[in-house]
Amino acid sequence: MLPRVGQGVDVHPIEPGRPCWLLGLEFPDDDGCSGHSDGDVAAHAICDALLSAAGLGDIGGVFGVDDPRWHGVTGAAMLRHVRSLLDDAGFTVGNVAVQVVANRPKIGPVRDRAELVLSELVGAPVSVAATTTDGLGLTGRGEGMAAIATALVVSR
Ligand code: MG
Repeated sequence: MLPRVGQGVDVHPIEPGRPCWLLGLEFPDDDGCSGHSDGDVAAHAICDALLSAAGLGDIGGVFGVDDPRWHGVTGAAMLRHVRSLLDDAGFTVGNVAVQVVANRPKIGPVRDRAELVLSELVGAPVSVAATTTDGLGLTGRGEGMAAIATALVVSR
């Protein structure tokens, strides 16, 4: 059985005063993203990449916005749930790469901690990168954050 790859992208608007959750970490000095959950775009992109790699649909199908069970859910809890779905479907995660696209928060100082937290949640190595768009677009203007993720899984 060959390994399978999947990708995920997420974008949320920044909401002043909202707690900032990103990469499974809280950033107390930054405004967070609005959304049905904690607005962790990186966790959401990873969920979609994992589901895509396993052929299990996407985050909207798993965590319906009309389902009260998932209201206010943390990115960490979503990752745990997706991991259990992959496990049930007979998939082991090989690795995950995620890149944040945002002006803030600055990822460099917390990269190691984020990789540790996410790797533990996913049960496989997660590498974290970040970039800006040089002031262009919704992330460049500080209106939102985006993340893109790639996952590799193998069927047991
Ligand atoms: Mg999302």
